Amino acid sequence: MARPTQAVINLQHLKDNYQLAKQHSQQAYAVIKADAYGHGALATAQALSEADGFAVACMDEALQLRHQGIKKPILVLEGAFDKDEWLSAVEHDIEMVLHHQSQFDILISDPCFAQLQLWFKIDTGMNRLGFRLDEANTLLDMCRNAGLRIKVLMSHFACSDDLEKAKTETQFQALDTILQQQKLFWPELILSSNNSAAIIAWPKVRDHISRPGIMLYGSSPLIDSSSSHCVLKPVMTLKSKIMASHIVNAGESIGYGDSWIAEHTTRIGIVAIGYGDGYPRSAPSGTPVWCNGKRLHTVGRVSMDMLCIDLNDNDDIDVGDDVELWGEHINANEIASLCNTISYELFCQLTQRVKRIYSA
Ligand SMILES: *Cc1c(COP(=O)(O)O)cnc(C)c1O
Repeated sequence: MARPTQAVINLQHLKDNYQLAKQHSQQAYAVIKADAYGHGALATAQALSEADGFAVACMDEALQLRHQGIKKPILVLEGAFDKDEWLSAVEHDIEMVLHHQSQFDILISDPCFAQLQLWFKIDTGMNRLGFRLDEANTLLDMCRNAGLRIKVLMSHFACSDDLEKAKTETQFQALDTILQQQKLFWPELILSSNNSAAIIAWPKVRDHISRPGIMLYGSSPLIDSSSSHCVLKPVMTLKSKIMASHIVNAGESIGYGDSWIAEHTTRIGIVAIGYGDGYPRSAPSGTPVWCNGKRLHTVGRVSMDMLCIDLNDNDDIDVGDDVELWGEHINANEIASLCNTISYELFCQLTQRVKRIYSA
């Protein structure tokens, strides 16, 4: 049998999570950048045949989906980096974010760019991408005079994962104010602001096209992700099998650096997954895994291709048994917080060595 390290992707859960996101906006563009957060962009796009559109980070990601036969609207969140990319957006009918003067300068250099559907990005407080609030109206006038088509006014929230911070509402108000000022000139203009956290946690903030990412994959974006109002279904189950087992005596150590030393005679299972697969090396001894209906725990350092778990008092478990690293039983957010990161990063850093298996 081949090395049993796999990410099983539950496509029905993906669809259910999309429907949940969709309940909160007129439209929802499914964010499938970074290979759909490690879940496989093509399979995700094909499964989400109900989606109003897709969003990716860059042109390469958009073109790949077009070449693979995805016909739905695709939005490129960073816009283009040079004129060739803008031209290829025209050619392949890709919606583009316009966030910087340097992009505007290219767009007015050729009349063909008047065909593009542009999302005009305003910086309402994230201070990353977008036109400043006090220059937005002037720039929008310039776009109109240049014959460019602005379809959406968009912004991105800095703290929507934190229910204690009022900033999300402030940011939305600022965006909406620009919409009110521009409505006269662009009657069709609509808003897009909501990421997963805003969709889930900010019922008062309602845009026209939301941009759900992490929630599609069933992971809560909220700081307090245990919140019960989150009924997302986990999509990825990362699993492998025990490939060897043995007993160590009290005083013997496990793995690199002797970081874990047995206090008493301990039976150890070796699991075929490591940081070469994207399982975080920062996972400390004691990180939970799921095996035969029980929570067991890692011991010693995660190595490139393997990690070790404590099998004491589990005589029923041995070589060949399945081990879930996260998914149906172990919440990816729990592993992420033990590793000082977020589930987004865990999903994205899964390597190609992990086989993606799709279940309907
Ligand atoms: C990645 C991204 C999203 C999706 O964010 P989630 O937190 O995963 O829902 C939405 N909008 C923009 C601009 C993004 O870059």
